[in-house]
Amino acid sequence: MAATIIDGKSLAATLRASQKSAIESLAARGARPGLAAILTGNDPASRIYVRNKARACEDTGVRSEFHEFPEGTSESSLLECIGRLNADRAVHGILVQLPLPPHLDANRILAAVSPAKDVDGFHAVNLGALLQGRAGFVPGTPAGVMRLLEHAGVALAGKNATIVGRSTIVGKPLALLLLQKDATVTICHSKTADLAAVTRQADILVAAAGHAKLITAEMVKPGACVIDVGVNRMPDGKLSGDVDFAAVKRIAGSITPVPGGVGPMTVAMMIVNTVRAAELSLG
Ligand code: NAD
Repeated sequence: MAATIIDGKSLAATLRASQKSAIESLAARGARPGLAAILTGNDPASRIYVRNKARACEDTGVRSEFHEFPEGTSESSLLECIGRLNADRAVHGILVQLPLPPHLDANRILAAVSPAKDVDGFHAVNLGALLQGRAGFVPGTPAGVMRLLEHAGVALAGKNATIVGRSTIVGKPLALLLLQKDATVTICHSKTADLAAVTRQADILVAAAGHAKLITAEMVKPGACVIDVGVNRMPDGKLSGDVDFAAVKRIAGSITPVPGGVGPMTVAMMIVNTVRAAELSLG
């Protein structure tokens, strides 16, 4: 039987709509949520991501602003901009779009963002809070994956959850969130020996490797829930996930598409985090 398709686009639209009344009530109290995005360099994908985030802000009533820097910009120019945004009471969330050009130290730049405005959840303070199970800002993609799993009614306690990819923005924080829900978590990466043998044990399989169609049908346990985080541009210009969707949907129990799965949830969670930051700013 073909897998149930988990529709991230429609869940994200519902989630965004659910924020509108909170946004208007904050605006009435003089704190319309405001988000500032910083884009550095010429990466076309980053430009598209920032544009999508600005559209989502416009759509929900979040005020957004955009700060663009050329490829060769200096660290001090970025730090100066972040310092100004940290001090600006109309800005509740600051996004530094990654990747940064290689001459810039991403950790140092992310560390400059006030943890209270770090709606991407990339600051060490927020990542540390996640590790300790305390409330902080959780990165949008893993938070969005958890919402998708909840929405699809996927049981997590005692289940094998395997993540392919160990990045700080997706794989590692997602592992912590799945652990909080009592899943037995395995993280795979580029040096994992016999990836297929590990993924075949997974009741929940999350692909976040950035490698088109890495996960084939033979690597999936029948009935598993498969979440595809990957976004890869194919030679024909189309987007593909990290999962061979056409083949895997015949064996999985449920699956997210690309596009229309995790991506819209990442943006929706950014809105949720910005609204929360604005609420917290009022004390
Ligand atoms: P990354 O490059 O930082 O990390 C990739 C990880 O995958 C690494 O840990 C690496 O060890 C592992 N990996 C790579 N090839 C592998 C292989 N053949 N076998 C096993 N493991 C392998 O990437 P990232 O920033 O975590 O992003 C991963 C993917 O998710 C990319 O396609 C990215 O575009 C996408 N992404 C999507 C969203 C979204 O909102 N949909 C958000 C963030 C990232």
